[in-house]
Amino acid sequence: MVKRRDVVAGVATLSLLSLTGGLAGSARAEEMALDGEAIATAQGDIIVHPVNHASLLLGYGDQVLYVDPVGGGALYADLPRPTAILITHGHGDHFDVPTLEAIAGDAPIITNKDVFDKLPEGLKAQASALANGQDGTLNGIAISAIPAHNTTPDRMNYHPVGVGNGYLITLGDKIVYVAGDTEPTPEMLALTGIAVAFLPMNLPYTMTPEQALVAINTFKPAMIYPYHYGESDLSVLEGAVNPETELRLRDWYANAG
Ligand code: ZN
Ligand code: ZN
Repeated sequence: MVKRRDVVAGVATLSLLSLTGGLAGSARAEEMALDGEAIATAQGDIIVHPVNHASLLLGYGDQVLYVDPVGGGALYADLPRPTAILITHGHGDHFDVPTLEAIAGDAPIITNKDVFDKLPEGLKAQASALANGQDGTLNGIAISAIPAHNTTPDRMNYHPVGVGNGYLITLGDKIVYVAGDTEPTPEMLALTGIAVAFLPMNLPYTMTPEQALVAINTFKPAMIYPYHYGESDLSVLEGAVNPETELRLRDWYANAG
């Protein structure tokens, strides 16, 4: 069954799509607005649209940023096409060549070097790699790559230092931080002025909700979306997040299947 609601951008409701109907909606994709939660900037709203686990879409003006799109093209058939794509690192829950080949069109891609090297030639031609600490732009949107890695000794094999990227995405006067797969790093903890943060919290790959809570209450984003949380118990966050941060607990697994 395909449930689709054609909701204009800016409506502050979250409507996760349940897609099992294949590509039936793709012909209309380009005329569809992106629905999701609206976050105001001085230059118009950011629309947050979770897809599944680590995959999400950010709308801004006529831009649709896809972050870590995986899961196959059908999962995105009823969504607006990407104007740009960000990929944090090469694990299968963040990077999938068949999904990219189905959806990317000619959208520019920013990723890390590991993924860049694994892209087929066609996609590589529209991609660029950022190392930790480097800056780039996607359709005029400023992107900064910051380190994403484990810090606990027995988890370092999952995400070693210097491979994965988190991204700071500047949209209007707001900075969105998509952390990728990471534990709290010095660079994360030193962030200031983050409007919206997406933090992963599942073991053994990323951090615990308790680690996330310490990080949230250190860099104090105005808004935090836990994502990439799997079976983790997020109740530790409720009532414990500092008053400067709005906790947005949402179901990131409604499309799992
Ligand atoms: Zn990973
Ligand atoms: Zn992951």
